[in-house]
Amino acid sequence: MSSKLIADLEQRIADLDAQSLRRRLRVAESPCAPHMQVDGKPLLAFCSNDYLGLATHPRIVSALQEGAALYGVGSGASHLINGHSRAHALLEERLAAFLSPYVPQARALTFSTGYMANLAILSAFGGSDVALFSEELNHASLIDGARLSRAQVQIYAHGDTAQLAVLLAASTAARKLVVTDSVFSMDGDLAPLKDLLALCEQHDAWLVVDDAHGFGVLGEHGRGVLEHLDLCSPQLIYMGTLGKAAGVGGAFVAAHATAIEWMVQRARPYIYTTASPPAIAHAVQASLDIIEGREGAARRVHLCGLIAAWQDKMQLQRWQRMASQTAIQPVLIGDNAEAMRAATALYKRGFWVPAIRPPTVPAGTARLRVTLSAAHDMADLGQLVAVLQQLEGEHA
Ligand SMILES: *Cc1c(COP(=O)(O)O)cnc(C)c1O
Repeated sequence: MSSKLIADLEQRIADLDAQSLRRRLRVAESPCAPHMQVDGKPLLAFCSNDYLGLATHPRIVSALQEGAALYGVGSGASHLINGHSRAHALLEERLAAFLSPYVPQARALTFSTGYMANLAILSAFGGSDVALFSEELNHASLIDGARLSRAQVQIYAHGDTAQLAVLLAASTAARKLVVTDSVFSMDGDLAPLKDLLALCEQHDAWLVVDDAHGFGVLGEHGRGVLEHLDLCSPQLIYMGTLGKAAGVGGAFVAAHATAIEWMVQRARPYIYTTASPPAIAHAVQASLDIIEGREGAARRVHLCGLIAAWQDKMQLQRWQRMASQTAIQPVLIGDNAEAMRAATALYKRGFWVPAIRPPTVPAGTARLRVTLSAAHDMADLGQLVAVLQQLEGEHA
């Protein structure tokens, strides 16, 4: 039976295909690690955000099992009904203490995902009398959160604090909110947070920092970008994710206790959703033990060594290495079809590196998004460098 509605979608999907913009799922048949089995094929993966290699750590796996034994599987309801367990409360206390050198009177709130945490922050601190200043390259969840916030959104250019200063000075809004990724997820560079915070303090604006790619990896103790840059302010609203470097899942917001109390009262993506399984919160405690301890420090040192080796060895002619100091090390190709051909050729040779195309990145900046992890060794890195240099020549 054919339907006009289905035929219309089929046409639109065919159009995506024609523009090399169709996305496809692959089935991982082994846990997240450098060496994976994918659709029956062994691959060396450079695509996960498991920056410290904790997704398969035996101590965290045991903690998840222990959590299930202690708390069961489902939370049963939202946090404000009966879903807020001791496991969530303990994790929130720990995260608040972990961030307290940077966020005075810190309190933390946990979420099922970073996407929801961002929706929650921006909907709670938004409103029609709010001016929201959003960095051009912000993550999709912040863009969607800005829409949900009903605030008046103004976009400032990537890293352009001078432009932001002009916009803030010109604003007559009752309340102001500046929103930025800390580490840009498709570029790997850092936002100028010190200058952004100074501007926010000068203009009585909140600074919302999405540290999805910094928490666990940046800073001497893995406390993230605020530790890395030594920033501290009651005007910071910090979002960290727990499914990337922490290797588990979920996210949290840390801010001044009063700001968090406001979120509990007003953030609909917090209020109207079932709390994540408490066992997840219990497992995150084991991940924090590692992140804070000697093992976490050693993993971060190894990761820094890989990043330095990549920058040293990865010399390109036509394609471009981007200016990143983090574990996200994109190779800029430009054309969508060429980026797709490169990703396909890598796949055929046993490497898993995703091609990132518009609308995730601006038109004309399609790229391979290489991510490094403490679980890689130097030999893995050497293999990737060799195959990329060879492919660049073949595609010329
Ligand atoms: C991954 C990511 C998120 C979303 O976090 P999830 O826990 O995966 O939902 C938010 N912001 C940025 C910058 C991210 O990279």
